[in-house]
Amino acid sequence: MTLILGDIRIDRIEESREPGNLPHEDFPDATPEAIAPYLEWLEPAAIDPASGRTIMPVQTYLVRTAHRTILLDTCVGNHKNHPSTPAWNRRSDYTLIEDIAAAGVAPEDVDLVLCSHLHLDHAGWNTRLEDGRWTPTFPNARYLFNRDELDFAEEQARQGDSVYGESVQPVLEAGLGEMVAKDFALDDNVWLEPTEGHTPGHVATWLGSGGGRAVMCGDLIHAPFQLPHPEWSPVYDWDRAMAAATRRRFLESVADTDIFVLTQHFPAPSMGHVFGKGGGFGFRYHGRDMVHG
Ligand SMILES: [Zn+2]
Repeated sequence: MTLILGDIRIDRIEESREPGNLPHEDFPDATPEAIAPYLEWLEPAAIDPASGRTIMPVQTYLVRTAHRTILLDTCVGNHKNHPSTPAWNRRSDYTLIEDIAAAGVAPEDVDLVLCSHLHLDHAGWNTRLEDGRWTPTFPNARYLFNRDELDFAEEQARQGDSVYGESVQPVLEAGLGEMVAKDFALDDNVWLEPTEGHTPGHVATWLGSGGGRAVMCGDLIHAPFQLPHPEWSPVYDWDRAMAAATRRRFLESVADTDIFVLTQHFPAPSMGHVFGKGGGFGFRYHGRDMVHG
């Protein structure tokens, strides 16, 4: 699925899409009773009718501006050690890299990698295993990081998480990492917005060209049922209250505008417009009649 925004081309490329947990296992407030009123529009795309499980794709956005080829988030990747999420542990398919190639971009062509935050499903393909060593997958890219997120990833590593060691440190050691502020602006087309809460250094990436704007919001929102309930923070938000406040502020800022919101884990096509300023938000999908809310 492609979105054209002035001089910018955005391709949404999916790595996986499998039913995950039951909603309340990730979102304690989303009990069966609480979620029941929304099932009519959540099924079948966002909630699997057979199992009741949430469907959250893992995907990247390939962005081509007049000057750059950029990846926004890099999915889970291969051979990564993540036993706590079996679907992410030691994957071994190359469909993401093949599908990026099918869109006309080889790994060598990518000149910028931007991770909204450093969880595995957003940073995994930063590196690949080559002759037993973690090597940057995109050898000619600059990978942008911010200090808060790097510090957090290092802290997680001290508690046993593998992302920093496998998907971040090798990039830094190869000299491809670049430290930027959370409100860094690359140029007139690409800039960041601090959106802390899911993690301390979480950022949204804004894209603008020809009067059109889009924002890739990472994990500041995970599931469409958080639109009517921005306060439903998942257990994997670092600071659930801060994440809820950030989510509501963000939704207010984009609701009822022509800004395209590029989500990470909403079902395909994942891109669309937020409506319902003042609360009770919903989502109108790009190019489809699928409306959430
Ligand atoms: Zn995620």
